[in-house]
Amino acid sequence: MNKIIETAENNLLHTYNRFQIVLDHGEGVKLYDTDGKEYLDFFSGIGVYALGYNDKEYNDALKSQIDKLMHCSNLFYNEPAAKAAEMLTEISEMDKVFFTNSGAEAIEGALKAAIKYAYLKDGCHNHEIIALDHSFHGRTCGALAVTGKLAYREAFEPLIGKVNFANMNDLESVKALVNDKTCAIIMETVQGEGGIYPATVEFIEGVYNICQEKDILLILDEVQCGLGRTGYTYAWQQYNIKPDIMTTAKALGNGVPVGAFLMNKKVADSSLVAGDHGTTYGGNPFATAAVAKVLEIFKERDIAGHVKEMAPYLEKRLDELVEKYDFITERRGMGFMQGLELTIKPGDIVNKGIEKGILMLTAGTNVLRLLPPLVIGKDEIDKMFEILDSVFSEMKD
Ligand SMILES: *Cc1c(COP(=O)(O)O)cnc(C)c1O
Repeated sequence: MNKIIETAENNLLHTYNRFQIVLDHGEGVKLYDTDGKEYLDFFSGIGVYALGYNDKEYNDALKSQIDKLMHCSNLFYNEPAAKAAEMLTEISEMDKVFFTNSGAEAIEGALKAAIKYAYLKDGCHNHEIIALDHSFHGRTCGALAVTGKLAYREAFEPLIGKVNFANMNDLESVKALVNDKTCAIIMETVQGEGGIYPATVEFIEGVYNICQEKDILLILDEVQCGLGRTGYTYAWQQYNIKPDIMTTAKALGNGVPVGAFLMNKKVADSSLVAGDHGTTYGGNPFATAAVAKVLEIFKERDIAGHVKEMAPYLEKRLDELVEKYDFITERRGMGFMQGLELTIKPGDIVNKGIEKGILMLTAGTNVLRLLPPLVIGKDEIDKMFEILDSVFSEMKD
C-alpha cells in the first residue's frame, strides 16, 4: 500500500488530502483495500455507487457496449444516448436533456441555458443569478461562481457575471436580491457538501412562486440529492414545484463519469441552439449505456421505494446516537442523505471509522455525512450503528 501511495503522491497534483488507504475492489456494499481489509461503505464514492459494487447486470451491460462502440462524437446519433435520453426525460418530468461528463459541466450548461434565455428575452448582457450560501455546485469557473463557499472561490475571482448569495430556507433573503436583471435562482434541493440542509417546503415553494411570477428560471441542482437518494426519484418531486432547469450526475452512471442538464419546453424552445454548446465525450455510447442500464435497474428494483422504506430505520438508529452522545447536536437529512452535526471534529470520526472498517464523509465544517449505496438494508444499518457507536464511545473518553 505504501508504495502505491508514494507513487501517487510523487505524481498526482496534490489537490486532495487523501485517506491513507488504497482501495482495490468492491462487492455489494463492501469495499476492500489492497491489503484485503474490508470496509462497510457509507460513502459510495461521494454518492455515486448507488447500486453497490460489482452488480452483474450493470457490469454485463457495460462490457457488451465496450465490445460494440465506446464513442462516436455528438455529430452522429447512437442508440444508447437516444434510449437514455428518453428514459431520463421521462423520470425527471423534463422535456430535453444534454449529457455531460460531470456534475460541474451540467451546472455550466444549466447556467448557459439560463443566461441565453434571458438574453433572448431582452437583449441585455448584464443578468444576475441568485445562489445560496453553503451551496456547492462544482469546481469549474461557472459552477464555482455560484458556489456559496468563499474559500473555494476567492483565489479565482473574478468568475462569471454577477452572482448574489441568499440564505437557504430564508425566503426574505432571496426576495431582497430579486430585481429586473435576475435571470435565474440556482439551488440544491438538499444541500450536500455545505452541511446537509434540506429545503423547507415554505422556502422552496416560495422560491418557485417568485420564479413563476417574474419569469426567473429555477435551476435545481440534483447532482447529489437526485436519483432516489432522498426516497424520491428527484428530491424536488416531493414538493409542489417544478424546476425549469435541473442538473443530475453522481449516481447517474453508477461509476461511469456522466452528468446531464435537463430543461422544460419553455427553456428548450428559447435558449441553446445548434452551435451554442457542445462536448466531445458527453453522452457517448459507453456513458449512456451505463445511464440506460442504471435507470432500468432503478425502475425494476424500485430503488427509490427501497430508500423510502428503509430511511426511517436509518433515521431511528442515528437518532439513538444523537440521544446518547452530547457532542452530537443534531441529525439532518432526507432518505439516505444524512448528516450528524457535531461539536467535535467530524474528520476525526471519519478517520477512526476507517480504522474500524467503515467509510463516511464530512460536510461543511462540523457535519458527519452518510451517503450509503441506495441498496443497503437493515443489517448494514445495524452494522453501521455498532461501528459508529464504538467510534463515538472512544471519542467520549
Ligand atoms: C458533486 C456535486 C457537483 C459537482 O459534480 P462533479 O461531478 O464533481 O463536477 C455539483 N453539485 C452538487 C450538488 C454536487 O454534490
